[in-house]
Amino acid sequence: MRTAGTADFLIIGGGVIGLTIALELKRRHPEAAVTLIEKENDCGVHASGRDSTTRPTR
Ligand SMILES: Cc1cc2nc3c(=O)[nH]c(=O)nc-3n(C[C@H](O)[C@H](O)[C@H](O)COP(=O)(O)OP(=O)(O)OC[C@H]3O[C@@H](n4cnc5c(N)ncnc54)[C@H](O)[C@@H]3O)c2cc1C
Repeated sequence: MRTAGTADFLIIGGGVIGLTIALELKRRHPEAAVTLIEKENDCGVHASGRDSTTRPTR
């Protein structure tokens, strides 16, 4: 079992919303510890990964 450390900001969910909030928090507060928890093995595998506006095109 892994024990979580401390964080100034905790974000649950690594979709486009959670990732955007995490990036913006680090931009505004570079010194803050921002932790993002994602239940899947990768970020963006749910709605954000299926939406053609957020999915990178190749
Ligand atoms: C086919 C499709 C087309 C779309 N087209 C458009 C469009 O044209 N324009 C538009 O504006 N929007 C569109 N949307 C909607 C848009 O994709 C979503 O509104 C947006 O991606 C939601 O982002 P989100 O980060 O809130 O959610 P998600 O991408 O669902 O991310 C939530 C994340 O939280 C994680 N999570 C959930 N519960 C937990 C937990 N307990 N612990 C840890 N992690 C957890 C999930 O695994 C997931 O990764 C579309 C959606 C789909 C499916």
